[in-house]
Amino acid sequence: MPQTHPHPDVDRVLLDEQQISDRLAEIGAQIAADYADEPPILVGVLKGAVMVMADLARQIDLSVEMDWMAVSSYGSGTKSSGVVRILKDLSGDITGRNVLIVEDIIDSGLTLKWLLSNLRSRGPKSVEIATLLRKPEAARVEIDVKYVGFDIPNEFVIGYGLDFAENYRNLPYVGVLERSVYED
Ligand code: 5GP
Repeated sequence: MPQTHPHPDVDRVLLDEQQISDRLAEIGAQIAADYADEPPILVGVLKGAVMVMADLARQIDLSVEMDWMAVSSYGSGTKSSGVVRILKDLSGDITGRNVLIVEDIIDSGLTLKWLLSNLRSRGPKSVEIATLLRKPEAARVEIDVKYVGFDIPNEFVIGYGLDFAENYRNLPYVGVLERSVYED
């Protein structure tokens, strides 16, 4: 059965399935136009970007490759540690290739800043970023994000790939987590 009622731990739904899918269709068309001559390798950042990757890739009318990286930046809390570790590296070589990082959310931007310099050191032709969500704090970090789905308020969100302590990733919408779930 599809999930039709918001989860009880969700304070409110921020973006529903239709809004997400409409926006990803727009971004996908833009990516197809921008990369028509030289399709990119999409690099999804596990685990949060799984849903975005799956849905966005299907909206890009080009023959794209997909690869994955897993990095750790958060524990099971809600604050960025600034410490990034590679848990899983790319399986392929990106030398001379157009790389498009696919992210679920940019918050402080620390994770992405680190990832950008890591990928750039491997000699790609270009590295750009597509993110479904961006929080206002990210504006203070110097990162040029080529494709942004939605700028959202500074609240902790879950669903559509995003977790809290590994839960809620399979919610089909993006919702604000009820504060009582993570505050005593
Ligand atoms: P940053 O380094 O930009 O502060 O954080 C990036 C990572 O932190 C994201 O990939 C995501 O895993 C996590 N994150 C940041 N904000 C949120 C949020 O509101 N909800 C969830 N579930 N994760 C977040």
